[in-house]
Amino acid sequence: MNIGIDVDGVLADANAATLPLVERYTGTHIEKDEITHWDYVSDTTGLSVWHFVRLMGQAWQDFENMPIEEPTVANSLTQLMRRGHHVSIVTQRTRESFPFVCLWLDLHRIPYDDLIFTSGTIDKLMFPIDILVDDSPRIITRAGHIKDKILLLRDQPWNRNVDSLPPNVERVETLAGAVERILSMPLKGGVSKHPVQ
Ligand SMILES: [Mg+2]
Repeated sequence: MNIGIDVDGVLADANAATLPLVERYTGTHIEKDEITHWDYVSDTTGLSVWHFVRLMGQAWQDFENMPIEEPTVANSLTQLMRRGHHVSIVTQRTRESFPFVCLWLDLHRIPYDDLIFTSGTIDKLMFPIDILVDDSPRIITRAGHIKDKILLLRDQPWNRNVDSLPPNVERVETLAGAVERILSMPLKGGVSKHPVQ
């Protein structure tokens, strides 16, 4: 199957890296666990969503200090590829941050088959992926209308306020949990590109 993996909030803890910049810019200190809904930072600081995204892009420039969400992310993606899945990293972000994401993926030796950057106007679910692992609560309703795709919602404080999920959306605690779930599903399409070693 084609598996799409989000970056911010799934592979990288980009909110943790951006919040100090938010504090420097607005004077408001926010802890990651306080972000209990998607627009929390904008609602609390008055910062526009666009500005927050720019600050996150700025945080990515210091890619060597961008924290990883789980120490096992490289191993998780390796497991998928060895089972014959095609892994696409799918991320929506500022164009200026594209190269820093590539450098960060290399720094952490995170394997993937291809890398899809979108700059905001294209829905991630339009890409040819069967399962998307993402933390955004914004994508849940849309996923509910595309019944042949599965969204594995990576648990984060900003998506916990969503308690009713469509049948093709499942909450997973971690990326490792998402991979465990995917590996328990029957392999669609059959032929393995990356044979089990
Ligand atoms: Mg994300």
